[in-house]
Formats: sequence, structure tokens, C-alpha cells
Amino acid sequence: TVGVIGSINVDLTLLVDRIPGPGETLLGSGGTLSPGGKGANQAVAAARQGAAVLLVGAVGRDANAAAATELLRQSRVDLALVAEADDPTGLAVVTVDRQAENSIVVVPGANLAVDIARVTAALPRLAGCDVVVLQGEVPPQTVEYALDALAAAGVRTVLNLAPVVPLAAEAIRRAAVLVVNEHEAEQALRILTGGRLDLTGEPVPDGTALARALAAAGLAAVVVTLGARGAVLADGGGTVHVPAPAVAAVDTTGAGDAFVGAMAAGLASGLALQQACELAAEVAARTVTAPGAQQSYPWAGEPGRPSAG
Ligand code: ADP
Repeated sequence: TVGVIGSINVDLTLLVDRIPGPGETLLGSGGTLSPGGKGANQAVAAARQGAAVLLVGAVGRDANAAAATELLRQSRVDLALVAEADDPTGLAVVTVDRQAENSIVVVPGANLAVDIARVTAALPRLAGCDVVVLQGEVPPQTVEYALDALAAAGVRTVLNLAPVVPLAAEAIRRAAVLVVNEHEAEQALRILTGGRLDLTGEPVPDGTALARALAAAGLAAVVVTLGARGAVLADGGGTVHVPAPAVAAVDTTGAGDAFVGAMAAGLASGLALQQACELAAEVAARTVTAPGAQQSYPWAGEPGRPSAG
């Protein structure tokens, strides 16, 4: 079983000619609600790879809650520990202009109700998971507490530090695997090294240097995702580059979440980290060939789209 402690949102995407300025009213198009939130995305990605998935989260008592959880239900994610909170369901309003430039407002809403008490209540079930995944979209105290409590219970955790939130360095080091993109990797390294970035001999830190530096900063295993270049993983045994299959990318939204969810499913099924990353790279590449996040996540065994390569 894969446990996920994380956010559940709806995304409202608006297409405009240009991002409106202060006081301005523009006509746009789009306006459809799609399910999102890193926790929910990763839960769907893992479930579609065949994992049993338990999601710990919260939604509001509003109409958006049904839209936020529709694909979770369809993907058979266990929602018994998804609470109903007084605040509205988490909402991201994404405005995209003709140059594909975007501006985003995120209202965490009910996700802030994913507090220490809820994780404490969920611990008996989380302790039975093969791996538990966390991200930065629920309160940082909750993430720190969960990393500590799960390590004490002997449960392997995957920390996707996205967005980068100010966690204690010791809490980050409790993660069995840290997964970050290149931008997040630099920020995470700053937290772990107390602000002093020591990448001696690496004037422009590349993904491999970042992964190596993070591992050297006291992490058991680190995966730095590199977009179309795949990912690099670093642990005590050195670094390994996992290439991304060449595909015709149409929408990379949610690719990082697909990677993390599929990787967790792989780990839970007994794969070693490198093999889990290879599975994740296959799954994530397929998601960028179709629009949207959860809607684009493949089911295991589904035939892939032809490669552009
Ligand atoms: P994020 O979206 O979180 O910034 P990345 O851009 O690194 O993360 O993408 C996450 C993963 O998705 C990559 O490691 C890769 O496996 C896959 N991916 C992203 N973009 C592409 C692409 N254009 N072609 C193939 N795979 C991709």
C-alpha cells in the first residue's frame, strides 16, 4: 500500500490574450474545473500503476469537493481518511496567456486542516503502508511531524519537497527518498546546509551535482527530476542518470506528480529505487503527451502513444 498525506484541489484554468492588470476586466475562455493538488495527483498516479493507495487529506463541504475527488474515486483511491473541513476545497486559479505565460493564485482552504491531529489519528493505518508520500502543500508542521512519526514507526517515506517549505533540516533527513526538481533542489540544499551552498568546482550546479550535494548533506537517497532530460538519482552508492523517453510534449502539467506517484507505486511493489525511477520516467513521459494532470495519467498496461523520437 502507498500512503499519501497531501493536498486535494480543483484547478480552474482561464485562457486569456494577456494577463489582466490591476483594475482591468478581460474576456477569456476555458473555465473548466479539473481535479488537482499534488497529494491527489500523486495518489491517482500511484493507483493507476496498480498500487493500493490510502490518501490522508481534507476537502470542504462545497460543490468543488466532488470535482476534486472524482478521479480519485474512479482510480479506487481509499478516501476514508479524507476529512470534510469548514474551509472551502483547495482551489488553484490559473490564468494562461497566448505566450503560455501563466499567473496562479492558490487558495489552500481545507488543505490547512490536514494537521498533526489528523496524522496522529491516521498513524495506525499509515504504519501498515509500504511507503508514505508527502509534499509541501499541507502545513509544514504536519509534514515534519509525519516524517518523524513514520520514521519512528519504521515506515519508508518519500518527501517531494514541492513547493519548498521551511522544514527543519533534521526532518528532511528522515525521508528515505527526497524527490525535487532542479529549482527545488537548490532551495533544499540551502536549508540542509544552513544557507552555505558548497558546490566546490561546480560553478553552475547541474542536476547530478545537486543530487550528489544533497546526498552528501545527509540524505539516504535523492532524486532530482530534469524535465525532458529525465532524472538523476544519488545515494550512498553514487549517482545514476535515468533518461526520459523522447515524446512529443503537449502539456507538462502534473508530470512531476506522475513521476512521484509512479515511483512510490514501484517502491511499494518491491522495486529498487533505480527501477522505480525508470518506471516513473516511462509514466511521466506518457502524461506530457496529453493535456491536463490527473486526466493524462496512464493505467498500467495501457498501450503507450507512439514516440516522437
Ligand atoms: P516538475 O514538473 O515538477 O518541475 P520536471 O519538469 O523535472 O518536474 O518533470 C518531472 C518528470 O517528468 C521528469 O523527470 C521526466 O521524467 C518527466 N518529463 C517532464 N517533461 C518531459 C518531457 N518533455 N519529455 C519526457 N518526459 C518529461
